[in-house]
Amino acid sequence: MTRVAVIGAGTMGNGIAHVFAQGGWDVTLVDVVEAQVEKALATIRKNMDRQIKKGSLTEADRDAALSRIAAASALDAAAGAELVIEAASEQAKIKFAIFEELDRVTPQTAILASNTSSISITEIAARTSRPDKVIGMHFMNPVPMMQLVEVIRGLGTSDETMKVVVDLATALGKTPVEVNDYPGFVANRILLPMINEAVYCVMEDVAAPEAVDTVMKLGMNHPMGPLALADLIGLDVCLSILEVLHAGLGDPKYRPCPLLRKMVAAGRLGRKTGHGFYEYH
Ligand code: NAD
Repeated sequence: MTRVAVIGAGTMGNGIAHVFAQGGWDVTLVDVVEAQVEKALATIRKNMDRQIKKGSLTEADRDAALSRIAAASALDAAAGAELVIEAASEQAKIKFAIFEELDRVTPQTAILASNTSSISITEIAARTSRPDKVIGMHFMNPVPMMQLVEVIRGLGTSDETMKVVVDLATALGKTPVEVNDYPGFVANRILLPMINEAVYCVMEDVAAPEAVDTVMKLGMNHPMGPLALADLIGLDVCLSILEVLHAGLGDPKYRPCPLLRKMVAAGRLGRKTGHGFYEYH
């Protein structure tokens, strides 16, 4: 396999395109908002320049990788892909529509993967005629830096599709971990309740955001506090994942904190909007 299409050129899409292009794949990067693709290409270049400064990439390799990325604004640009990774906004309706269309435009042999943080791979797969070839490929943010890929097996995902995706994640230099399809998988089932509890601590004035984060960094040896991490992930994404955990598992312990809802309603989404639990300039 050498041709991948990445759908969605936001926080995750640019990182996924970066890693595949650097790994020698031809990448088609698709976003309905054309400006997002332009922004993603600039981010990839900036991040590759950082790798050059660190000595982990040469200028020639950067130029070759960038030349392998083609931009597009419609899904039919994915027609030639052997693998598609969907990294569009975390809304079931958007993902279902994308997979219905991908099923029409891509060859029947293509593997269709979703980078979703929480939406059921089994439900996404049911929108296609090839549930055996639909899988979760859950990269971590920032993609070029983070080692883990959760590989999620939907109810109908075949052993062969699992093997292909595990092998290719390994070839990209990542460490794949196989997980079954339940709400939040493993990473977010554990991470999001912690972030939610940190937001409750702020709402109930147990401590200020800096204090909460310092406790978790110095006391638990976490490299980042949960609120700084929530700002990095995006507070809207955090809220969507908690909604999925709450609805899918039905336990009140997953109830999203009202302060998180209020911040999302105010458009304070974290780093991407410049305001979250911290200010970014
Ligand atoms: P984002 O909001 O930064 O980017 C989403 C992009 O998808 C936007 O550019 C939007 O224009 C585009 N989009 C929306 N509808 C589309 C469509 N129909 N066709 C093509 N593009 C479309 O979101 P993100 O943080 O990059 O998250 C993307 C996916 O990755 C989500 O499923 C999210 O749960 C998952 N994820 C996010 C993180 C994180 O830390 N942000 C980590 C792991 C997984």
